[in-house]
Amino acid sequence: MRAVTVAPGVPDSLRLIEEWPEPATEEGAILVEALAVGICGTDHEIIAGAYGEAPPGQERLVLGHESLGRVLQDPTGTLQPGDLVAGIVRHPDPVPCPNCAVDEWDMCRNGQYTEHGIKALPGFARERWRVQPKFAVGLDPVLAPVGMLLEPASVVAKAWDHIERIGNRAEWKPHSVLVTGAGPIGLLAALLATQRGLSVHVLDRATTGPKPELVRALGATYHTSSVSELDFAPDVVVECTGAPSVVLGTMCKAGASGIVCLTGVSSGGRTIDFDAGALNRELVLENTVVFGSVNANRRHWELAAEALARADQSWLSALITRRVPVSSYAEAYTSTAADIKVVLDFER
Ligand code: BGC
Repeated sequence: MRAVTVAPGVPDSLRLIEEWPEPATEEGAILVEALAVGICGTDHEIIAGAYGEAPPGQERLVLGHESLGRVLQDPTGTLQPGDLVAGIVRHPDPVPCPNCAVDEWDMCRNGQYTEHGIKALPGFARERWRVQPKFAVGLDPVLAPVGMLLEPASVVAKAWDHIERIGNRAEWKPHSVLVTGAGPIGLLAALLATQRGLSVHVLDRATTGPKPELVRALGATYHTSSVSELDFAPDVVVECTGAPSVVLGTMCKAGASGIVCLTGVSSGGRTIDFDAGALNRELVLENTVVFGSVNANRRHWELAAEALARADQSWLSALITRRVPVSSYAEAYTSTAADIKVVLDFER
């Protein structure tokens, strides 16, 4: 069967292998036919040789952690043949650490977790894959065209879960939310914010293309100014750019008792001249919380599946700016400025 693979650590080693072995039964009882795989910045980093790890003893890693498939067989009866399914990305570490021991693998403490298509587990960019019931999430049939958005939505569902837990440290009545970056994570974070009835603002550099309209279609406000120029102090910020000046800008801009959730992974290596003491003073005197958020556990995947099923399906479809057949895989992994989410289509 066909599989999209890389040799981790080797730049530009992306290849479509035509005769990749069928998934081993040890991978899980549920056999799935791939429908689509979403592509994100992490895939680009892996292709550049900067991230990623092959399974032990292997040279190549199958890419793909944003999955959507259709169940072919499930002898456990958890799902039915024909059901839509996504595979959870992260598996707990084998020690396990206190968090992995209770299936909070998203909060792994020792870094020995594994991740499909990223770290030591084969990804979902292959024609068939297997999954254990515990890591299989069923999707509403209405999500057939957009179900590969479940993984990024799970990351955002976790971010919101933690924002709310932090908010509830004291009396908390948030009103305004600032989302920085109108990529897939930012737009899904904005969607979940509107589902919470909050006043949503999205900031991005793009003045053309679909982003401004997608934001307006949510009933949110689109900004292209710098963060410091905004004329309000947000109660919540979901930072999705990882750009150092934007990250620092959001910490300075958050209102009293504000919560800043960082989701963008910066590449690092660039320094910036900044008054850290002034920032510390602001954070302390305003009870501001700044925290990082990555990955998601099963509960978040289920919350995300509900949130996506409740959303306007045509709005979700508009996030997918290109659907590329597997045979043209190299085009799918070449990003263009006009892209929001590019999807590798296994049905064509
Ligand atoms: C994925 C996460 C993963 C992270 C770090 C992200 O692209 O969405 O599930 O934990 O990369 O590997």
